[in-house]
Amino acid sequence: MNRQLTRRDMLATAAVAGGMLTSASVAMAQTSDRILQPSRAPGIGGNDPVPGNPIRERQNPDMLNPPATDSGTTPNLRFSFADAHVRQTSGGWTRQVTARELSVSKAIAGVQMRLNAGAVRELHWHKQAEWAYMLYGTARITAIDPEGRNFVDDVGVGDLWYFPGGIPHSIQGLGPDGCEFLLVFDDGNFDEDDTFLLSDWFKHVPAEVLSKNFGAPASLFGHTPDPSELYIFKAPVPGPLGPDRLLGASPVPQSFSHRMMAQDPIRTKSGTVRITDSSVFPASKDIAAALVEIEPGGLRELHWHPNADEWQYYISGQARMGVFAASGQARTFDFQAGDVGFVPFATGHYVENTGTTTLRFLEMFKSSYFADVSLNQWMALTPPELLKVHLKLDQQVTMALNKTKIPVRPA
Ligand code: MN
Ligand code: MN
Repeated sequence: MNRQLTRRDMLATAAVAGGMLTSASVAMAQTSDRILQPSRAPGIGGNDPVPGNPIRERQNPDMLNPPATDSGTTPNLRFSFADAHVRQTSGGWTRQVTARELSVSKAIAGVQMRLNAGAVRELHWHKQAEWAYMLYGTARITAIDPEGRNFVDDVGVGDLWYFPGGIPHSIQGLGPDGCEFLLVFDDGNFDEDDTFLLSDWFKHVPAEVLSKNFGAPASLFGHTPDPSELYIFKAPVPGPLGPDRLLGASPVPQSFSHRMMAQDPIRTKSGTVRITDSSVFPASKDIAAALVEIEPGGLRELHWHPNADEWQYYISGQARMGVFAASGQARTFDFQAGDVGFVPFATGHYVENTGTTTLRFLEMFKSSYFADVSLNQWMALTPPELLKVHLKLDQQVTMALNKTKIPVRPA
């Protein structure tokens, strides 16, 4: 948490958390009661005497009072799903963070989707590959491949799926309370409102062509609901998996689902890392991911990725990320659940748990493989005399370097 919280600030935060903030107290907070001031130390910065958004500022303490090491201009690397438009339908809702929201992210876009029990994300396909992480509940997913092999599976919290570009699929919320998941697409300009929908195509083919195609009278077509009525729509909760599984076809050779939480993680004193790329989830050819858990005070070590941009999704807890963008440029961003973070290709960064609970976040890359370069390991594996003439480090520092990668460092 922020180092400059006053007692009054704590009370205000507690009031917000408890939903007790009245409009009068919001008004007060917006005028005279500015609690965090843009002044990280006496004699630096100043107060802010005009109305602002103190609730927002409390969520961004490292933006209002950046570490003295921050410098220069970097593009914005954060966007919260809380600031994204929500599309609501009869079966649930969805919202997206794409290059339109977070303009630096050219290679990846993300979508949050909630399907109520039984609700279906209509049978559809799209040009982009789709990777997903289940955040809540259970879902049934279906697909076929071009060879006519099929895939049906039920997934729960911590499970993934991956549908290559062009592969038709569906998602349905199961009982008792449906599901919510994060979708990740390998194109920053992806638009969830712009996919190939089954009903949309039916609506735009003449009945006599449908008749020929399906070998049934033309009069039987023409009752297709409007695509706006489907997309995400209400339906009965399906029965147990089993009868639907194969429908007389053989299964796809590589499963489109994967149990990420069942993977044995890399464990350190202060956290865990699970890495899932095409080496353990062969179908996932274009998205690699890591699920990181960090205990309070712990640090995802200083590192960078030699292969791709990093697109992050914060699942729970609080964090700050410092990025180093070369040429003396550095900036610090704060995150909480539902936020998206971004790190440009090869840019140095760390992520620190600044809260009091376990921090959980996902790192995603448009790549078939996960790779990171550890600053600590690089220095440990550099001839000591060569390193010495660079940083003039005390021997105690060089002695503590680790030749083995430790992705999460203790507090
Ligand atoms: Mn899809
Ligand atoms: Mn990283």
